[in-house]
Amino acid sequence: MTTVRQALAQSGLVPVDAQVLLAHAVGRDRAWLVAHRDEALTPAQADAFGALAQRRRAGEPVAYLTGMREFWGLPLTVTPAVLVPRPETETLVELALEWLPRDGTPRVLDLGTGSGAIALALAHERPRAQVLATDASAEALAVARENRARLGFGNVVFVESDWYDGVGDAHFDLIVSNPPYVAARDPHLTEGDLRFEPAAALAAGADGLSALRTIIAGAPARLAPGGALVVEHGYDQSERVQALLRDAGCTNIVVRRDLAGIPRVAAGRID
Ligand code: GLN
Repeated sequence: MTTVRQALAQSGLVPVDAQVLLAHAVGRDRAWLVAHRDEALTPAQADAFGALAQRRRAGEPVAYLTGMREFWGLPLTVTPAVLVPRPETETLVELALEWLPRDGTPRVLDLGTGSGAIALALAHERPRAQVLATDASAEALAVARENRARLGFGNVVFVESDWYDGVGDAHFDLIVSNPPYVAARDPHLTEGDLRFEPAAALAAGADGLSALRTIIAGAPARLAPGGALVVEHGYDQSERVQALLRDAGCTNIVVRRDLAGIPRVAAGRID
């Protein structure tokens, strides 16, 4: 017989991962585990948790094992077809909201939406905004559409598109993107959770900037006057991304740090 306490202690996982996976295996939340530490697991629960813990020890992201990750307070379905939404991307949402008026009906474009995290967070905060969100992956768009349906948001449209190719000639008040930005040969791609995430959502050319170049260079032609572009970038790309924004004619360039203090988001305006 295995109790909740024993299962957590013997899992070989960091405590938060063990708690999330055990809660998933028993169909309860983490608060229930705390209140039932001496409760015995059924053999089926113990087996289910053992299998999840083993996959986690082998590196699979917790969010793929539970199929769920919260972003901006919204519960999102995630599968290996999409990048797992990360806390640093909430920094992008915060900055984007500063550029999005509460009144009016701003038009927003989210490029490379993945699970739909950014688009859905913005749609939630600005119910009158019209959000168009793209991804080159049909599998990712299926996940994003499932998330939109569960949340019941009527102001987001998802379209399959390679960056701007399928966007048409509409103009936007705000363009946002968390594109792939890891250098193709970065050793991090072969370590930890990143091994299980879609390469197309992570890696972008030799210097990691190929997607950001396309997105930034194409923004002025798609932004309405006074519109803004907000992008996430890698830990060592802040100067180069600011230069790309200046080269594209952006003014009012703003840089934001993530929770770890690393410059992670850059924004600029087109006058
Ligand atoms: N922030 C991710 C990482 O852990 C990368 C995400 C991205 O490329 N957009 O490296």
